[in-house]
Amino acid sequence: MRIIAHIDMDAFFASVEERNKPRLNGLPIAVGSDPQDGKGRGVVSTANYAAREYGIHSALPISTAWFLSEEARKCGKPGVVFITPNMHEYEETSAKIMEIVRSYANVVEEASIDEAYFDLSKTGSFAKAQKIGEAIKKEIGKKEALTASIGIGPNKLVAKLASDFQKPDGLTVVLPKEVRAFMLKNKLRKIPGIGPKTADELLERGIGTIADLQALDRFELELAVGKQGLYLYEKARGMDEAPLIEEWIAKSISEQETLQHDTLVGETIIGLLRKLSGQVYARFTQSDFVTFKTVGITVRFEGFETKTRVKTLPVATNDRTQFEFETLKLLLPFLDARENPKRKAIRLIGIKIEKLE
Ligand SMILES: [Mg+2]
Repeated sequence: MRIIAHIDMDAFFASVEERNKPRLNGLPIAVGSDPQDGKGRGVVSTANYAAREYGIHSALPISTAWFLSEEARKCGKPGVVFITPNMHEYEETSAKIMEIVRSYANVVEEASIDEAYFDLSKTGSFAKAQKIGEAIKKEIGKKEALTASIGIGPNKLVAKLASDFQKPDGLTVVLPKEVRAFMLKNKLRKIPGIGPKTADELLERGIGTIADLQALDRFELELAVGKQGLYLYEKARGMDEAPLIEEWIAKSISEQETLQHDTLVGETIIGLLRKLSGQVYARFTQSDFVTFKTVGITVRFEGFETKTRVKTLPVATNDRTQFEFETLKLLLPFLDARENPKRKAIRLIGIKIEKLE
């Protein structure tokens, strides 16, 4: 029997800031780029729960967050405290949390800086797994003064949905016999791979909920949506065989920045690319990793259309020149007709390295 757990820190970046700066206690906090009195052009990375009550959430344009904060202030509520991210601090805290998780489970997949899957099959029962979940939450609270939400289920899909089910500070256990009913309590969009576009396409075929999906057999679903049918058939029923992927594969180091103005001026864009690759490389040299094998870039155009390109090198490297050369090679086609036939201006650039060892 598989017993898989998923831990997700609650409003991680904002909670770390709140913990480190007790004077912020109870105030709404948005960690993200500089709002510049409403003229800032980046986005919110994390909002704490007080800021979420103002309608502020991750990925919201920072200018909108600033506007919502001003609106709240006009109603006599406290204004939002805007904080630029301190990634170094978050990474250090993340490492301590992952260490706590690892002391309870030997197979751990670090899915992101504040999220991990871990395998509790060896405990032999969901009751014992629940006790471990409680112990991990308690230890994180005691040592790091932070809260986490944990979900436990028979696979990664159910565990992830369960960790999100009673946020913040939640612990949700879904037994195998409860999986089908549990799935019905989740929105269709919670199934990985169902973005706004797929959701619209499904709705056109009369499928708007997980219950609608569960009502169809796999042949009807394949007829309705094609080759994605089997995938949706399984996920709607909470079926998922995906294995846990151990740490080194999932790890990456990335940086991104919004340009001051949308532009297609090569000098400006390449200048930002150089700055970001310098920052990524500096974090890489400070990390415990010695090589990377994959280099990637993100380009966001005006209008928020976003493209990513990755290159996996034939051999792992730690060479800075090679790294910069590869990012430049990935970027250049976006400055001309090859990847940018309509010559759209660029809004944001991101760089990452992956497959760190
Ligand atoms: Mg989180």
